[in-house]
Amino acid sequence: MEHPSQARPTVAEIDGRALADNFTELARIAGGRAAVLPVVKSDAYGHGLTLVARILHGAGAERFAVATAAEGEALRAAGLNGGVLVLGGVYPAEYDRVVAARLTPIVWDIETPRALAARARAAGRVVPVHVKVDTGMSRLGVAPADAPALLRALAELDGVTVEGLLTHFADAESVDHAGTVRQLTDFERLVAVLEDARLRPPLVHAANSAATLTAPRARFDAVRPGLALYGIHPSPASREAACLRPAMRLVTRIVACRALAPGVAVSYGGTFVARRASTIATLPVGYADGYPRALSNRGEVVVRGVRAQVAGRVCMDQTMIDVTDVAGVAVGDEVVLWGGPLPVEEVAARAETIPYELLVRVGARVPRVLASGEEETWHGSRERS
Ligand SMILES: *Cc1c(COP(=O)(O)O)cnc(C)c1O
Repeated sequence: MEHPSQARPTVAEIDGRALADNFTELARIAGGRAAVLPVVKSDAYGHGLTLVARILHGAGAERFAVATAAEGEALRAAGLNGGVLVLGGVYPAEYDRVVAARLTPIVWDIETPRALAARARAAGRVVPVHVKVDTGMSRLGVAPADAPALLRALAELDGVTVEGLLTHFADAESVDHAGTVRQLTDFERLVAVLEDARLRPPLVHAANSAATLTAPRARFDAVRPGLALYGIHPSPASREAACLRPAMRLVTRIVACRALAPGVAVSYGGTFVARRASTIATLPVGYADGYPRALSNRGEVVVRGVRAQVAGRVCMDQTMIDVTDVAGVAVGDEVVLWGGPLPVEEVAARAETIPYELLVRVGARVPRVLASGEEETWHGSRERS
């Protein structure tokens, strides 16, 4: 059978308009006083780091947050000049590059800033840092009680400047806000202590997507949404707070279609056996592309507006679907793996995971393409480097 398209048709289709509108909506919710610091770590949650950063910059984003120094350098290489916060902290082998790329690492001890300061002074620069406070994640950060002493020591260190103070919520998407309120109260107390000691950094921030949408007290000077920017609600409760549109459709096309007699098996292990005369279509997408193997015999896709079930095990590079009930189905038909009528939240639930994991696991070999007709719109927002 002739291959229907010129290129492998498995693509992540990115809706640039949705990304820009989600950013604007989050800025509206942040209320003007708090800046939106878009989180574009992990390749912008799988949507494509430089593509997304350019679109958000065009929509008004001035700073960005990433997880690693390498991601920050990629933003610089794409010509973005604003502040780049490195949420995961930085490692000794990266210090010179952090200074050269003018990144803003988060820090939680004095040793890292001391080493960064020495390199900054040698380069005639000053490294901006944000101090991370652990109020309940037990992940990264200085204990609230130890934070004033750290900020005092940093204030006396030439070569670094403390630009921000942050914490991170463990459970902001839960309907029971008790944990978030306790974290928030501890953080507010610390901010008040720092204010009295004239050590309060200019940029205090705490809110992830869930807190941005549902905890107004958590907004401070900036909010750090990730998931919501990509149009996914962190919890059902946040749906009332904002109007967001998903920015990714993961799509492919049928590359082969065959009739199976009852009793014939499909894919590795023969875990699907046709119970009736069946039509089985082959999709060029597998777990190496980020389509979870957990969806074997459990996933659903949409073809010609109709739901079809995954038949047998998801392979590394292919997946078969049962299209017996899809009228007129043909090689070349578009198949939606998620997006549009098939929310990624639903696919994630079927795979027993969360939307975050599905999005960031979209494979490197899956091209990220702008939805049709958008090329021109975003060309203008490209920065000259
Ligand atoms: C990933 C991350 C965020 C964004 O979280 P979402 O739930 O996607 O909004 C914010 N802050 C920190 C420190 C993070 O690691």
